[in-house]
Amino acid sequence: MKTRVIVSTSTSPMDNRSLLVVDDASRRGVIVDPSFEPEPLSRAIAEHGAEPVAVLLTHGHIDHIAGIPLMPEAEGLPIWVHSGDAPMLTEPMLNGSFLFGVEWVPIEPTRLLGDGEVIELGGLTLRILHTPGHSPGGITIDVNGGEALITGDLLFRGGVGRTDLPGGDQATMVRSLRRVLEEFDDPPVHPGHGKATTLAHERATNPFLQMWSLV
Ligand SMILES: [Zn+2]
Ligand SMILES: [Zn+2]
Repeated sequence: MKTRVIVSTSTSPMDNRSLLVVDDASRRGVIVDPSFEPEPLSRAIAEHGAEPVAVLLTHGHIDHIAGIPLMPEAEGLPIWVHSGDAPMLTEPMLNGSFLFGVEWVPIEPTRLLGDGEVIELGGLTLRILHTPGHSPGGITIDVNGGEALITGDLLFRGGVGRTDLPGGDQATMVRSLRRVLEEFDDPPVHPGHGKATTLAHERATNPFLQMWSLV
């Protein structure tokens, strides 16, 4: 059964990538990290005839959640987030919305995710890895047992997430990166910002992984 990870470029000033992960057979899927100005993501949902069943968040920063109240497709959908970042959805001061001059109306998450949890949607399997460091409840999503990784703001092409925001911690970040590098070989990587990459490419070229002796 085929799964598609559809990357949608957001027009946010931070080059966010919002994603749609769809099981081809059932058309069911999840919206991941709907960012500012989510119209391209809405178009992708329509073009692929997708039926999103939930909004899945890699973490709770405003640039990953701002699209929730803006997308008609997200209305009424359950919101899934790791327990460590759940307070960011209800406490505007924690998600950084004030930095963008965005007024955040609190949203109650529907399901609090934990490490190792597995979500099955038709032929699609999403396994949750708790990978904190950028934020306390940051997750990496393993799509179909290593077919692809969605890393949020843990790992980027040529970079890693910042750790100077509230709840961030560099030593924790390094541990999370080590775990991902040990657990996976060479899957495609879909980060929360910027271009897609592969774990092999990052092993070979990412200066942060080299600086922290992770490769
Ligand atoms: Zn973030
Ligand atoms: Zn971000």
